[in-house]
Amino acid sequence: MIRLIEKGCTTNLKGFKSEYGFVEGLIRFDKDFSIQLEPKKKIEKKYDSSEKLVCPKCKKGEILKGKIAYGCSNYKIGCDFIFSFENIKKSAYQLLINFDSLGKLKSSAQIKDLYSSEELIGKQIIAVVNTGERNIGSFISECLVLGITIEDGVSLLKPDLKTTDGIQVV
Ligand SMILES: [Zn+2]
Repeated sequence: MIRLIEKGCTTNLKGFKSEYGFVEGLIRFDKDFSIQLEPKKKIEKKYDSSEKLVCPKCKKGEILKGKIAYGCSNYKIGCDFIFSFENIKKSAYQLLINFDSLGKLKSSAQIKDLYSSEELIGKQIIAVVNTGERNIGSFISECLVLGITIEDGVSLLKPDLKTTDGIQVV
């Protein structure tokens, strides 16, 4: 029940970058969303594990992945930013999305504010599918569902007209 964005659709993707920059203040998602909306060349570069994510609280430290949470490298000098994997799981749905010829991919989407799980069933959405796998706690997210942040939460993007599943965004 999906449309998808495949590699290289940079024109469409760039439009979402700034919108997603404000997702719930969850730096990891936040940052990933931005990254994934960049052209493929940059994605590969940015997915390098040496890429640094800046702490949203002190704006100086680097986000480190611990055993049960993300934290700030400046914790020793007073920054108490922490975001547990448990919280990420609580604020997100774990979706299974049918991309037709590409198969079914799992995704973690932070859209609980505006959607019940029932109304998501069968809904067509737009997603980036060349993101690679990302661990969200113990959940493996295989694609990125696109949305925009509005007043009350994240609103999903969808095609204006109903389409067949698995179509590429042009
Ligand atoms: Zn910090």
